[in-house]
Amino acid sequence: MHYAKIIPVKIIDARKAIHDANSKPEPSGGIQLTERLLDSLHRPMLDLRISVTDRCNLRCTYCMPREIFDKNHVFLPRSELLSLEEIVRVAESFVRLGVRKIRLTGGEPLLRRGIERLIEKLSALRTDSGAAVEIALTTNGVALAAKAQALKQAGLSRITVSLDALNEAVFQRMSDSGVQVKSVLQGIEAAQRAGLSPIKVNMVVKRGVNDGEILAMAEHFRHTGIILRFVEYMDVGSSNGWVMDEVVPAQEVVDLISARYPLLPVDPNCAGEVASRWAYADGAGEIGQIASVTQVFCHECTRIRLSTDGKLYTCLFAEQSDTDLRALLRTGKSDEEIRRAITNNWQNRSDRYSQGRHEFMETPRNKIEMSYIGG
Ligand code: SAM
Ligand code: SF4
Ligand code: SF4
Repeated sequence: MHYAKIIPVKIIDARKAIHDANSKPEPSGGIQLTERLLDSLHRPMLDLRISVTDRCNLRCTYCMPREIFDKNHVFLPRSELLSLEEIVRVAESFVRLGVRKIRLTGGEPLLRRGIERLIEKLSALRTDSGAAVEIALTTNGVALAAKAQALKQAGLSRITVSLDALNEAVFQRMSDSGVQVKSVLQGIEAAQRAGLSPIKVNMVVKRGVNDGEILAMAEHFRHTGIILRFVEYMDVGSSNGWVMDEVVPAQEVVDLISARYPLLPVDPNCAGEVASRWAYADGAGEIGQIASVTQVFCHECTRIRLSTDGKLYTCLFAEQSDTDLRALLRTGKSDEEIRRAITNNWQNRSDRYSQGRHEFMETPRNKIEMSYIGG
């Protein structure tokens, strides 16, 4: 099978960078920490993903299949969502504990009322040494044309737009919607005009559905400065009916593009970067591969996720959370108690789902949906 072949990743440098980061003590404010917060497998907590809404205006078949997320599906009522103020308060604690990058996601984050205000507050956060925190957002792009300028003005550092096809019929099949490709492309153009570059575009590849779009997408984004990233279809959640046969291994995508436009491997930008990078040999730009199924990067996973209703998840493939920050916030706990809960949660972490995927898949799991914990 193709997926036995893996793309070489440059993990040695990344590990060294993580190690170097850990060896520099930094004051944490409230609780007594002299080193970066490490989990039980010695991984630092550096990235926070916040799901700001569990709702979406698309029904991508690999994420929110319409049979499940239909009119009878019960989304979280407003009162159960963390308020914008609660999100900011929690984010501040994360930053004091070592988080350096915050990504807003969902569901569709541009559906959350006040998202610009939230970005404004988050972008004002500073680490103990006074450094700014990177604020990123992942969107399906449908509402981006109208919002790009305001997002940039609010202080958004980076944006990733999801787009699975240029062909209208294929896109509408993947997103199970009547949305037109041009609305997403207009969103990407607006983000470029607003100065949100370098923009990344994520394409989830599903065999037999949109794999015929790989070359067209590569061609469309060459010479634009936009980084197209191919994402292996993952077994996240419990509703998408994932089967391995529908996964197109990253190596296959690289081989396909390379045959037309030769590619050269590029070193990772930073520790914990999940995408492997490739540059067009003719200078037309860069692509990325997120090979979450055929490659294992649990050993350098520095991500923690905050669900729409304030629960902490330390793995994308988690089944449950044992830390409810909303409950702490709404029962008047102090910032120090919030930080203590986050610290305990991270220190107890031993997740490595991708590493043990085949073994884990033998037992049925009730994995939490991606739209709720944030992709
Ligand atoms: N709605 C926004 C969007 O689509 O960009 C943000 C949330 S979405 C859950 C975040 C990312 O997860 C998207 O790029 C999406 O394509 C990806 N994603 C969702 N389900 C996936 C799956 N089963 N396998 C791989 N990627 C998936
Ligand atoms: Fe919505 Fe994003 Fe999931 Fe698609 S991938 S259904 S756009 S949350
Ligand atoms: Fe991180 Fe879990 Fe993914 Fe491994 S499977 S890389 S621990 S989110």
